[in-house]
Amino acid sequence: MKLCLAEKPSVAKDLAKVLGANSRKDGYYEGNGYLVSWTFGHLCTLKEPGDYTDKWKKWDLDALPMLPPSFGIKLKNDNGIKKQFATIEKLSQQCDEVINCGDAGQEGELIQRWVLSKAKSTKPLKRLWISSLTEEAIREGFQKLEDGSKYDNLYAAGLARAIGDWVLGMNATRIFTLRFADFKQILSVGRVQTPTLALIVDRQHEINNFKSETYYEIKTTYRDVLFSATKGKIKEKEQGESIIEVIKSHDFEVASYIQKEGKELPPSLFDLTSIQVEANKKFGFTAEQTLNIVQKLYEQKFVTYPRVDTSYLSDDIYPKIEPTLRNLTNYSEFTAPLLDKKIRKSKKVFNNKKVTDHHAIIPTGVTPSHLTDEFQKIYDTITRRFISVFHPDCKVSNTTVIGEVEKHEFKATGKQILEPGWRVLYPKSDSDQTSSKDKEEQVMPVFEKGEKGSHSPELQEKKTKAPSYFTEGSLLRAMETAGKKVDDEELRDLMKENGIGRPSTRANIIETLFRRNYIIRKKKRIVATSTGIHLISLIENDILKSAELTGKWEKKIRDIEKGTYSVEEFKKELFEMVNNLIHQVKHQIPKEKHYACPKCNIGYMIKGNNAWGCSDWKNGCKFKIPFEYKGIILSEKDIESLVYSKESKYSFKIKGKADKVKFVLNSKLALGVK
Ligand SMILES: [Zn+2]
Repeated sequence: MKLCLAEKPSVAKDLAKVLGANSRKDGYYEGNGYLVSWTFGHLCTLKEPGDYTDKWKKWDLDALPMLPPSFGIKLKNDNGIKKQFATIEKLSQQCDEVINCGDAGQEGELIQRWVLSKAKSTKPLKRLWISSLTEEAIREGFQKLEDGSKYDNLYAAGLARAIGDWVLGMNATRIFTLRFADFKQILSVGRVQTPTLALIVDRQHEINNFKSETYYEIKTTYRDVLFSATKGKIKEKEQGESIIEVIKSHDFEVASYIQKEGKELPPSLFDLTSIQVEANKKFGFTAEQTLNIVQKLYEQKFVTYPRVDTSYLSDDIYPKIEPTLRNLTNYSEFTAPLLDKKIRKSKKVFNNKKVTDHHAIIPTGVTPSHLTDEFQKIYDTITRRFISVFHPDCKVSNTTVIGEVEKHEFKATGKQILEPGWRVLYPKSDSDQTSSKDKEEQVMPVFEKGEKGSHSPELQEKKTKAPSYFTEGSLLRAMETAGKKVDDEELRDLMKENGIGRPSTRANIIETLFRRNYIIRKKKRIVATSTGIHLISLIENDILKSAELTGKWEKKIRDIEKGTYSVEEFKKELFEMVNNLIHQVKHQIPKEKHYACPKCNIGYMIKGNNAWGCSDWKNGCKFKIPFEYKGIILSEKDIESLVYSKESKYSFKIKGKADKVKFVLNSKLALGVK
């Protein structure tokens, strides 16, 4: 008997069907020489501090740092989990061989290995490694099962990541909370979560400190085409006006007119981050929402494995492209022109070196039905992108016109699409057209060198713009490049090695920051709350907030996966770092108390002339608590307690009431009497 262990009941069901294990038992399927069982994501977790020693049970400054010499795992405390684990434990004794059928990635490897290790399984281990859940892919996968040990390094990397998160998160959260938290608050610090928060907070400081400057640009219109002075920005209005004065009475003369044909390549296929970024931009979906949708589409067999960070396909996929395109019957108007000739094989799509475990996210060719609107949008985005990369390049004509007036040079550029190529997949909507107006894509008349005539110059007043707030899309990109701004696709590819977090966990990290109220959404913008800003201000140690340093630790985990770095070495460095951190934070001088504004969450309470008010009053938050209320002077303790528990710390005797009363903030945050 062979035991197949999947990561989800639904996947186990698909596997059992293909294997012919048709008899359903309690917690598994059986038949045709197979037992097929499942986990539900993580059944096991690393032990908690208190499981190692009693002195780590309570939060105590003197017991820090907590550095267990060896780490243990335990079952999660849940009856359903205990029952399923007992089933797996029993089956793993009965079988002759175990086939790990977990999701083909680091997390999946860790989930299954922990369960097998907890079950003390000693049976030979095989690995099913597939990129899609179609019947064909499952069948093929079982025909070429791999040796379980081939993925030992992947497991080691998953383990190192879990240990790193535990050691840094547990120690830092305890020490920051013990030393600096106000009023029963927990200051949660995490290995990836905190540098991500720091990116958002830093950006916000940049925006708040930004001073807009006015500048001027000279434009002129000649034959209905708008030209810009190549001189660029002018600081002084008078200087601009005097130039206008000079040029307006002279003719505009065309110095050169160049038309060049060019090509635009189709964009790359999607990896997880880029589909999340695209869906955030186009539909406003959150990173988590997109991950959940694309994961479901994978489980329903419509797209391939989504938790990937490559945007390439391997050569062995090439023969499957034609049948896949043929099966995308809902897109036949776009696939038909491709199917009557040899399928394009471009280097931007096929690159064996860029594909390790998985390839880019593409449709499987299984036609979906009954997709809800959200699911349809993601499926359509992935499918169009897939079809587009096999279309020819888009041919364009780029026009550049240079003109001159009294030695002042002007330039205008225009672009015309000659043959749309892959762009047929992306018909322009009205909204696209309005936005492209500013992008110099004006259609040009034909100019001749030397022609001249009258023109109408103008001085345009402009203001320098503050950097933009992060959206989930731009935050994901920033995490991918450890905070560096990189627009170039190829360079970004190289930097992925040092990004922070893994593509598949980034959505979850962002959600954690929302859940802890360190950041909030304002339309598409991500805004740090007062609590989030305060937390970052408390952290002096760069290792906890620098995206770049965190990226270097991520690199070490990747090296463990590649087999060029050991878990022991990783642990040694990690322990040293945490030791230093604890020592430093123990001696850090505390800052002033900080009370987050209960109304907007973005500002904090500052002392004014006759009231405590929100620091974000400039942006319209009117929240206030007066120093004196009903004849009583409120202490700072009362303010703290009102802000955090909506009730004053002490009771007061006030006019017209027989008993002492407490002051409260009601549901509308107005001050009243209880
Ligand atoms: Zn406020």
